[in-house]
Parts: sequence; C-alpha cells; structure tokens
Amino acid sequence: MQMKKLYGGIEAGGTKFVCVIASGPSHIVDEIRFKTTTPDETLGRAIKFFQPFISSGQINTIGVGCFGPLDVTPESPTYGFIAATPKPGWSNTNVLGILRGALGIKIAFDTDVNVAGLGEYKWGVSQGYDPSLYLTIGTGIGGGYIKEGRPLVGLLSPEMGHLRIPHDRELDPFQGACPYHGDCFEGLAAGPAVEARLGQRGETLPDDHPFWDVEAGYIASALVNYVLSLAPQRIIIGGGVMQKSSMFPTVRTKVQELLNNYINHDVVLNKIDEYIVPPALGGRAGMLGAIALIMDSGK
Ligand SMILES: [Zn+2]
Repeated sequence: MQMKKLYGGIEAGGTKFVCVIASGPSHIVDEIRFKTTTPDETLGRAIKFFQPFISSGQINTIGVGCFGPLDVTPESPTYGFIAATPKPGWSNTNVLGILRGALGIKIAFDTDVNVAGLGEYKWGVSQGYDPSLYLTIGTGIGGGYIKEGRPLVGLLSPEMGHLRIPHDRELDPFQGACPYHGDCFEGLAAGPAVEARLGQRGETLPDDHPFWDVEAGYIASALVNYVLSLAPQRIIIGGGVMQKSSMFPTVRTKVQELLNNYINHDVVLNKIDEYIVPPALGGRAGMLGAIALIMDSGK
C-alpha cells in the first residue's frame, strides 16, 4: 500500500495554537495544542514540534492559518507579519519569516478564517458549494470567501467583521467596542462587545435572554450584505456565539425577513436551514484547513 503524503499544519490562533501532521481528516499522525503566549515561546514550541518530522523526511511543507490582522500580500515587504494587534507582544511579528528561518521548508500562509473556510470546502460542509463563505463569530468576527477552491485575497484579505450594519440606538444604546469604528459588526456583535454591553460573558447569558434576538439581528444584517454582494452558494457560521441553541433558527428567519423575497432562489426561500449552516469540522476546521492550504498550494 502506498503511503499517503504527509503535511504539517498550524492553526495559529490568538488564544491557542494547534500543530498537526496529517494527510487529511482521516489520517492524523500527530497533533499538539498549546496556549498562545509570547511570540518567541509560542512559535518556539511549534518549531520544536515540527523539527523531528522534517529531519526524518516525513514532511517537507507546512500550511499556516494565522490570526490577524495579517499581511497576506506576497509583494508587500511585511508579507507574513501580524500587523498592529491588541494581543500583547504580537504586533509586527514576522510569523512567516520566523517559521521559514527556523524550519527551512516551503510554507503556505493565510488568515485563520480563510484557512478554516478552505478546510470546510475540502472536507466539510461546503464541499461542492462554490463560492462559499465561512464566518466566525467569537472573540472577533472574520470571514473567508472561497471561490474556485481558493480564498479571495485582493487589496487585502477581506475584513468582513468590520462591515457597517444598521444600529438602532434605542433598541441597543451600546456604542460599540471596535477601536477603529465603534459600532461596526464586530464592534456590536463579537464576544467582547457582548461582555462590555451586558457585564457578563455571552456563555453565561441564558439562551432566552432578550439580547440574543438583537445579536441575531446584527448577524442577519451582515449576512444579507454578504449574500447580496458575494452570492455564496452556502454560508457556514462558526464561533462561540453560534453555540446558543436559538441562534441559527433566529438568524435564518431574520435573513429571510430582511431579504423580503428579493432573492428568488429555493434555497433562500424554502431551504434556508441548508443555506446557513454550522461547520462540519468544528474545532478541527483550522488545523485541517492549514493542511488543505498546503496540499493545494502547488496547483
Ligand atoms: Zn470595526
């Protein structure tokens, strides 16, 4: 039997790192998870994990999905750097350069959401749906738009969390938590905004708390904008906020209400529970997406 080619993958998140050696979801050879601390310590642990697999010839390429804001423009002098971030110590860290310098192998690099979207497209719930949109709503909000099997990157890697959406200040007087825009989508609806507004973390808020309806409204507003401008065939939403049991049904209903029959497609009108869906790979989308990124990088 021929051995499947193995790849290295890093899900480089702002909270935790996952490093994996795999050929796909059904063949994971090794995996390690650790907290994201300082760049030196965190990248050092990742490097130490991969070194034996590289020196033994088991892998010769790695894919990385990294938290941002990230410079993913190959022509840029700061390509592969994390830009200004509130995460202590990580601003202007040359993540790609440090990994390349230490490991000396080919590395494919993209944002965490692009890579998670790619993982879902290759092995998860958006297989066969092109284009597709992967959105995460948690500590931050980000989106990866996958078209023809690749994440869309242009002038920048899309920053879908910072979309402007309607904000009814009578319904929700919270001014917003985004340091750049105040009440953009992320400033209104990400985990830290929920906590700043209500004085408790979303996880501890009961499922029937009236705020969840407001939250679902923000998510639906943003989704309507993505549907109208990007025309995804399927939308996947991950992240902690979507764990609330009522969130998917409420968001789907509100999307239909806001579109008001304008989009005359069966999937939007009658099968919206197949259109706006949770991820299939769950917590593994990032690390598997990193494998997908490097597998497809030569094509
Ligand atoms: Zn913003």
